[in-house]
Amino acid sequence: MSSELSVSVNGERRTVARGTRVREVLNGIPSKDLVAAKVNEKVVDLSRTLESDATVQPVLADSPEGLDVIRHSTAHLMAMAVQQLYPGTQVTIGPVIEDGFYYDFAPKTPFTIEDLPKIEARMKELAKADHKIERVEVTRAEAIKTFDAMGEKYKVQIIEENIPESEVVSIYKEGDWMDLCRGPHVPSTRYLRAFKLLSVAGAYWKGDEHNEMLSRIYGTAFASKEALDEHLKLLELARTRDHRKLGREMQLFFFDPISPGCPFFMPKGTIILNELLDYVRRLYRRYGYSEVVTPQVFRNSMFNTSGHWENFRENMFLSPDPEEDDERANTVDTSPEGWRRGYGLKPMNCPGHTFVYRAEKRSYRDLPLRLAEFTGLHRAERSGVLHGLSRVRLMHQDDAHIFCREDQIEDEFAGNIEMVRDVYSSLGFEKVEFKLATMPDLHLGTEEQWRAAEEKLANAMRRNEIPFEINPKEGAFYGPKIEIYVPDALKRKWQVATIQLDYNLPERFGLTYTASSGAEERPVMIHRAILGSVERFISVLIEHTGGVLPFWLAPEQVRVLSLSEKVESYAVELTGLIRKAGYRAESDIRNEKLGFKVREAELAKVPYMVVVGEREAADRTVSLRKLRGEKSQALTVENLIEMMRKEPLPA
Ligand SMILES: [Zn+2]
Ligand SMILES: [Zn+2]
Repeated sequence: MSSELSVSVNGERRTVARGTRVREVLNGIPSKDLVAAKVNEKVVDLSRTLESDATVQPVLADSPEGLDVIRHSTAHLMAMAVQQLYPGTQVTIGPVIEDGFYYDFAPKTPFTIEDLPKIEARMKELAKADHKIERVEVTRAEAIKTFDAMGEKYKVQIIEENIPESEVVSIYKEGDWMDLCRGPHVPSTRYLRAFKLLSVAGAYWKGDEHNEMLSRIYGTAFASKEALDEHLKLLELARTRDHRKLGREMQLFFFDPISPGCPFFMPKGTIILNELLDYVRRLYRRYGYSEVVTPQVFRNSMFNTSGHWENFRENMFLSPDPEEDDERANTVDTSPEGWRRGYGLKPMNCPGHTFVYRAEKRSYRDLPLRLAEFTGLHRAERSGVLHGLSRVRLMHQDDAHIFCREDQIEDEFAGNIEMVRDVYSSLGFEKVEFKLATMPDLHLGTEEQWRAAEEKLANAMRRNEIPFEINPKEGAFYGPKIEIYVPDALKRKWQVATIQLDYNLPERFGLTYTASSGAEERPVMIHRAILGSVERFISVLIEHTGGVLPFWLAPEQVRVLSLSEKVESYAVELTGLIRKAGYRAESDIRNEKLGFKVREAELAKVPYMVVVGEREAADRTVSLRKLRGEKSQALTVENLIEMMRKEPLPA
């Protein structure tokens, strides 16, 4: 074995001795920026030694991989602080998540938000003390013995359940503290300069509600104080823009325990919902979709055919069959064979749409057939995951199913991608990101069919000149899909739309069409939604805009504010004129100061505030103040209405 290795560093080849530390081949990079390295594309500690020829790249503090290393190391730092401050607390797992990390502890009493400053202060001390972080490898048996002696029963369980007998176990030491961990980590604690603990929550061990409740602490960490402050500012903004809070202030919707997870849309919220649906309807006319209305309740036998009974019934609201005449009439049978009786509320539109397809004989000339539906969908989400409008039990989707021939797939995907771009740019989202989710391990059909289908989806994106990432193995079991994400004003990313290819349902429901040759062929089915759940989309839109919706979507577009009692009748008349022109207008003729009325209208996010006093009444003019900061301007009534007509309307 040669004692010399050939190493490529940032594209440059050089020769180093076997056993050289990764850190040494990366000299020249300021140490505070360098937190780890990629050796043959795998992120490792800087202290690792090189044992074979390799490609080495630096992992800098502010790169995505670098941030992961910093965040996970900060989770360790937090666990160290916690165990010093609260002896007897056991550690469990502490992964990195989007924008931060958490660690689940088993403390004697659950942590509260009041504990966080103390823990954070100790973390700062530990970071300053610059404890070296060292990787040690031990046998599995040794690791179990060590953690057992420390009273860490969760760690013992993790090793016993997840690590094979023969495997070496890595432990990271930090001063006199240690944790079971795969790593990698920063070289020492002084690399952790910018972190913040954010919140506490209860979490079940292994996410299973039958297990004991642990105490989870969330935090975040960045490469620099500036980046952390920037992020905290966005978090604060997100709090003030929380759609549940704005929804109440703007009188859009509310929830009541009488129907958990099902929103009550108030008149103003209903306007937003309907305007969005009308917008999609206008697009449907342009893109050749037909709207249908199908039942809410179906016999469970349909859900058995579609596969929902097998895979989804615990997320469905089920009902017995009132017409059954034996004692089973009043009971719901949720067993695997239970589909033979009873009804279910539809959680999705797809199975119902296969019946619409089958209602007539279809020929190749009828395809593509694009069926759209907006009716409500019920899903029995657990109460623990319900969250405002973003996770509900009753939703409306701009859902459509396209039945087409194999040779039409690419065009249909391309058309939908175009629609996605149309919708999101007109709704004020600057960027849309696309991913292609490919064949999962569990799948129907052959690999060859999958690769061909994936290629069609990729082509549809290339035709639209859309850059996309691959989301490996994340397709549905019945076909690949395109996932669409939008980053909002708070730099959060939402998955909104999907376009999925499905060979499965047409097969299960025996759908056919007559081909030009006269033979009976099977169509394919494309499931697509552009806004997705309209409820969830509204929550994203409210938080993205802070409630300042575009003029066409604003529930109250105009508010007429009177300066005094003398102009009351003019204000009321004016409101009537604006309504007659087709806009949503209200008047505020209360005997209050103008400043007060303006503040209220601003809180309600009314885009046009029309102020009228005696001079305006005499000249039949108005003084317009717009919500978005422009100065007030004097206009005639005709000019005002003309101005509203010029407000952009999508599609
Ligand atoms: Zn770890
Ligand atoms: Zn569907």
